[in-house]
Amino acid sequence: MAKRSVKDAAELIPDRPSIPKIRAAAKECRACHLWKYGTQTVFGEGAPKAQLMFVGEQRGDAEDLAGHPFVGPAGKLLDRTLAEVGIDRGTVYVTNVVKHFKWQPRGKRRIHKKPSTGEIAACRPWLDTEIELVKPRAIVCLGATAAQALIGRQFKVTAHRGEFVASMLAPMMLATVHPSSILRAPDDATRRIEMKRFTDDLRKVARALTRKA
Ligand code: SF4
Repeated sequence: MAKRSVKDAAELIPDRPSIPKIRAAAKECRACHLWKYGTQTVFGEGAPKAQLMFVGEQRGDAEDLAGHPFVGPAGKLLDRTLAEVGIDRGTVYVTNVVKHFKWQPRGKRRIHKKPSTGEIAACRPWLDTEIELVKPRAIVCLGATAAQALIGRQFKVTAHRGEFVASMLAPMMLATVHPSSILRAPDDATRRIEMKRFTDDLRKVARALTRKA
């Protein structure tokens, strides 16, 4: 079926939305030019009424090909960390601020490219609708792009990771690094330190969810 031409993703959101309906509708989205480059939209997935939602930047190469979020190396690192802090991956919802893969070629590889402010804004209606439908008690922003989109343009993950911040989007909002940044650590010692900090951040969320249940 030919893709509809739309200026705003909000035009595609059905009147009585549900996660399956908006996932299907997003396949027709042309609200920014990224639909031309990704293999497919990779929408959020997880428990429809999850207490905890993770928001990353965009899918990686593996996710783009698989059509599912957080299934590549960074997703596996997230899975291991969730297990370590006692959070069942089946009870969370994972998504990204941008639903198509933005990349640039490097040899035969497709290298991740940071989405622009305009692309993030164009895709925002999808994310806002996911949040409204899931109504998570806690949102964890993974990385600077997600944190700046959901918390504020001036927010610095390096300075305020692991801190709960006030938000209209969920009772609890916190940012930490994207797990892909841990995988890119320059050496084993740095990776171990970053892994511990990431685990500590997620443990804080796990404890808060338990305390305030
Ligand atoms: S990235 Fe988002 S706004 Fe852009 S075409 Fe894809 S779904 Fe639409």
